[in-house]
Formats: sequence, C-alpha cells, structure tokens
Amino acid sequence: MSSSSPFKLRVAICGGGISGLCLAVALSQCPNIQVEVYEATDRFKEIGAGVMIWARTWKILELLGLGSAFSKIAHSPPDGSIGTGFDFRRSDQPEEGSRFYLVQMPYGCIRFYRVDFLDAFVEALPPNVAHFGMRLVSYSQNASASEISLQFSNGTTATCDLLAGCDGIKSSIRAQLYRECSERSGDSTLLKFIDPVWTGTIAYRGLIPVEHLPPCHRSIADPMMHVVSYSISRGKVVNVVTFASDPKREGEPHNEDVWVANCLQQELLECYSNWEPEVEQLLNQIEKPTKWAIHHLRPLPFFVDRKIALLGDACHAMAPHEGAGAGQAIEDAFILASLLEQVSSLETLPLALDAYQRVRLPFANHVLKGSYDSGLMYEFNSQYGEDYEVLGPAIEKQWDWVEEPSPEEERLRALQYLKDAIS
Ligand SMILES: Cc1cc2nc3c(=O)[nH]c(=O)nc-3n(C[C@H](O)[C@H](O)[C@H](O)COP(=O)(O)OP(=O)(O)OC[C@H]3O[C@@H](n4cnc5c(N)ncnc54)[C@H](O)[C@@H]3O)c2cc1C
Repeated sequence: MSSSSPFKLRVAICGGGISGLCLAVALSQCPNIQVEVYEATDRFKEIGAGVMIWARTWKILELLGLGSAFSKIAHSPPDGSIGTGFDFRRSDQPEEGSRFYLVQMPYGCIRFYRVDFLDAFVEALPPNVAHFGMRLVSYSQNASASEISLQFSNGTTATCDLLAGCDGIKSSIRAQLYRECSERSGDSTLLKFIDPVWTGTIAYRGLIPVEHLPPCHRSIADPMMHVVSYSISRGKVVNVVTFASDPKREGEPHNEDVWVANCLQQELLECYSNWEPEVEQLLNQIEKPTKWAIHHLRPLPFFVDRKIALLGDACHAMAPHEGAGAGQAIEDAFILASLLEQVSSLETLPLALDAYQRVRLPFANHVLKGSYDSGLMYEFNSQYGEDYEVLGPAIEKQWDWVEEPSPEEERLRALQYLKDAIS
C-alpha cells in the first residue's frame, strides 16, 4: 500500500456459521475494512432445525439493515407487540399436563428455519469474500510482526491484520490462543478453557410437517416448554427439542464421536414413555430424530489476545435453554464491527479489541451461566424444585438481559471505551 492509499484493515474471519457471516456482513458495510471469510467445508451450511431469537437480536438485525430480509423468513414477522416467549407446562406424567407459567414479552419468540436464517446472511455478503475448503490449522503472530499469518489444511497460507475466530464450539483458534497464553504466562490453569464441557444433558431434535399434527395441537399456535416445540417456516413445520438431563453428570467426559448422531425413534419414545398425550402425539411424528450431547464452555477469562478476537460459540458456547447462543454471536459481531469501523491505524486496533472484550465478555458469560441454570429450572432440578409460585418468576427473571441494557446502549458504551482509550 502506498503511503497515500487510505488505511484498510484486513480482517480474516475463520468460520462461516452465524457469527462469521454476521461479522462479514457488518464489516462489509465499513469502508475502512477489507474482509475475507475462510470456511473449512465446501459451502455455508446449517442443520435442518429451528432457531429462535429475542427482541434484542431482532433490533440488531434491523440496525444492520437486514430487517426486511429476515422479516420474509421469520415466523411470524415481528411487529413489536407482546407475544409468547414460552408457555411453561408440566408434561412428565401420563395424564394431561397443565401450564405453570407463561412468559410474555415484546416480540415474543421470533422463529426461523435455520437454513433460511443462514441464507439470509449469505445473500447479504458481498461477492468474492468467501473461500471454501479452507480449514485453519494454525496461525502465527509475534509481538513485533505487524501481520498474522494463517496456515490452512490444504497447504495454502494467507495474511491479515486481525483474525476473527468464528470457528464454533471446538474452535482450534481458541485452543491455540489459550495454549500460547498459558505458555507465555506460565499459568497452566488457562488450559482448562480449551475443551468444552458436557452439561449432563442429551437433546433429541426433529421437525414435523404441521399437517401431521391435529390442527388444535398446542405447539402450532405458541412456543411450548417442557418439551420445546414451536412452529417455523411460516407455520408449515413444528420444530421439537426434548431434553433428558442428569445434572450430577455435568463435567463428565462424553465420547466426542457421538456429540451429534442419528438415533432411532424408539429410543426417543422410550425416553418420554410416560409423558402427557400431547407429547406422545408430537414425538410419534418424529421419524428420524437426532441426538445431541449438549456441551458448553467454562466462562472464558478473555476473548481477545493481541490481534485475535473470538466470537460466537468459539468463546461462549452455551446450553440452548435460553435460545441465546446465536443471538449472542450476532451481538458480538455487531459490537466488534461498530468498533472496527472506528479503527484508522494498526495502533488503534488493540484498543478496539479491548473495548470489544470489556463489553461483550461479562454480558455473554452472564447469558452462558443463565442458560445452564435455566435448564435446571425447566426440568425441576434447580433449588426451586417444583415450587411453581417461585419457579415461574425465577425463570422469567433469567431473561432480564433480553431487554436491558439495549444493544444500542452496549454499542455506545463500547465506543466510549475506545474513545477514552484513544484520547
Ligand atoms: C440444540 C440446540 C438448539 C439451539 N437453539 C438456539 C436458538 O434457538 N437460538 C439461539 O440463539 N441459539 C441456539 N443454539 C445455539 C446456536 O446454534 C449457536 O450458538 C450458533 O449456531 C453458533 O454459531 P457460530 O457461528 O459461532 O458457530 P458454528 O455454527 O459452529 O459455526 C462455525 C463454523 O466454523 C467452521 N469451522 C470450524 N473450524 C474451522 C477452521 N479450523 N477453519 C475454518 N472454518 C472452521 C465450521 O465449519 C462452521 O461453519 C442452539 C444450540 C443447540 C445445540
């Protein structure tokens, strides 16, 4: 670059899931940034399942100019009125169950088919930024060099000024970063943050065409909880997730080969054999369930090291009980992009990354912890047991973060940290 060329920050995003693509879309709107996305597989892909977001994530999508694209695929397109978050039921008995609490909030639970959700980001990507078959195996950064060099499994290399680690729960970037920080500092306790931890929960997932259910089935109208069920794809499909937990087993190793596997319908039916008739009706329609060993991360002490920043599941993979992992990944991307837009030289880059971490780390770790605790409550394993009078409000309180502080306030706070650090 000649000295008269305008400054361009070169950002390499490793991983093209929700966090990587949202960051790429947000950064592509910043004139001072050149962005490349390196994805290990041969295309951007998502699993065939549902995903839900809350009002704060919806707001961010709107701020990124994506409101209209996501409105077309949301069920239902949110208008801000009060909607059902979840209708909490007691379902684990053979007779008909009953509601013990109803959570309602502005927008309610905004629901999508995952494939459509990822595609909406893909469609907003500028041309030529995506590179497939590019699995990052390692990176090198040393304190004096101004750039980071990336090594991929296909033998190619690339360079960048900032590496954004968006490579999911088993992040190799997190592993290298924590290993190197441990070596540099001599603090071996940092190594415990590399591997995800099994939560003691198995989730079964499936999709049901809505015509396979009686028209009055509760799961069609509203998001239900004990067995999680909600409709997606403009009401044509019901997404189902059931949880079977043994909290005492939290932290036990789980065979990595079977974190996600197909399973027989019979296993699912046996697991919930004495549950209420509506649940039985639902599970009978899932012919090919998948089975997930739910893992999360220990809350990380840092998301950033020098010119590397972690986002999404790479830094705060969480249990799915608050429907928040993808939303938190989007929030990372929103805040980081807002800060990087202000970076006018390589000297200010570390200050922007520090501001990112100061805002995002405590918030995301709070949601991570809350997501695990919520799971205990939904299955009556928390300190509140089956005391519905206390349990219901306690569950609702776990979602306080959805409303305050708003993403715009968080963005302003991050920008203020950066401004103060620069001045
Ligand atoms: C059962 C279940 C239900 C959930 N429901 C919800 C929900 O309703 N709402 C919600 O907000 N969240 C939900 N989540 C969480 C949400 O799915 C995740 O938080 C989110 O998908 C994480 O996105 P990500 O981009 O960070 O990671 P990922 O989706 O894992 O993407 C990582 C990408 O990086 C690529 N990659 C990996 N290694 C490399 C490498 N070395 N080099 C290059 N590329 C690499 C991968 O191929 C992949 O494309 C749920 C999770 C589960 C398990």
